Amino acid sequence: MVKIRHGKQREFGKGSRICRRCGAYGPVIQMYDLFYCRQCFREVAEKLGFKKYE
Ligand SMILES: [Zn+2]
Repeated sequence: MVKIRHGKQREFGKGSRICRRCGAYGPVIQMYDLFYCRQCFREVAEKLGFKKYE
């Protein structure tokens, strides 16, 4: 049998974003165009001074 390989790479679909800091897939916060996962967002938010998000 011949398996057909699709040359198309899967792009970022709905809800499957990637954290640009640690590269983790999952719920990524796009607030302020940061694109961080929740964990990274917390760390970055503290540095940036954001304290509204918990
Ligand atoms: Zn992250």
